[in-house]
Amino acid sequence: MLITDGSPLLRIGGSDNDRHDRMRRIGWIDMESVHSARILVAGAGALGNEAVKNLVLAGFRRIDVADMDDIVVSNLSRCLFFRDKDVKTVMKSDVVAERASELDPDATVTSMPGRIQDIKNWDYDIVLGCLDNISARMHLNSHSYFHRIPYIDGATDGFRGKVHVVLPGGPCLQCTMNRSHVREMERRFTCTGNSTTYVPRMAADITTTAVIAAMQVREALKIVSGREDMCLKHVAYYNGESCEMFTAEASVDPECANHLLREGE
Ligand SMILES: [Zn+2]
Repeated sequence: MLITDGSPLLRIGGSDNDRHDRMRRIGWIDMESVHSARILVAGAGALGNEAVKNLVLAGFRRIDVADMDDIVVSNLSRCLFFRDKDVKTVMKSDVVAERASELDPDATVTSMPGRIQDIKNWDYDIVLGCLDNISARMHLNSHSYFHRIPYIDGATDGFRGKVHVVLPGGPCLQCTMNRSHVREMERRFTCTGNSTTYVPRMAADITTTAVIAAMQVREALKIVSGREDMCLKHVAYYNGESCEMFTAEASVDPECANHLLREGE
C-alpha cells in the first residue's frame, strides 16, 4: 500500500507487521536474547508496574513478578495496571501478571505472590529491584551477587530517583552503604502496603517513577544484548525538579560481605 501526500512515497506494510521492527532498527539490540531472557521483577508497586510494562513492550517474554501486598487506593495514581475494583481484593503481582500479559500474547508474565525472602529459585538472567524497603533490597542484592545475576536497583523519593547497576564482580549495593545510610533508609524507604509498618509514607509521583523504571529496563536491554560496556557505572541520581542527572562510580568495598562470601568459595 502506498500513501502520497505530495512528499516522497511512504510504503506501509512489511516491517510494520513486525511487532519489534523499530527495536531491531537500534542496531545493537539483540531481540532474540531479549525474548529468551529470564527476568525477575521484585516489587509490583509503582516501579514494578512501569518496569513490567516496559519489559513486555520491549520484547521480554519470560518475566516473574514478586510482591507480597494487595492493592490500596493510594497505588492508583502511579500504577497503570491497577483499577479501583482491585483495591483490597487482589494481590499486586496477580494483577500485573494478568494485565501485562495482554500487552503481548507471546509474553509469559508469572505472578509470585509472597515475600522476596522466600524466593528459592534464582534461575534468572537479570533481577530488577522495584522495592520500597531496604531489607528486601539488600536481600535481592546479596542473592543476585551470589548467583552472578546482574541486579538493577531502582528507587524513588518524590521527584528524586536513583538507579544502581550491579554487574557480577562489580561494586554492589552494600558496597555503597554505611551504617547511617542503612538507618536512614530503614526510616524512609516505604510508601504503601499492609505489611509495611514504617512511617512516614514517602512522597511519590508517576513521572519520576516512569523515568527510573525506564532507565532500569534500558540497562536490562544493554545487558541481555551483551553490551555491558554501555551500562551505567554505577549509580545514576535523577533530580526531576531541576531535570538534572549525574552518575557516580562506585568501588568494591573489600569488607563487603557479598564479595568476601563469593570470593571465599
Ligand atoms: Zn559489595
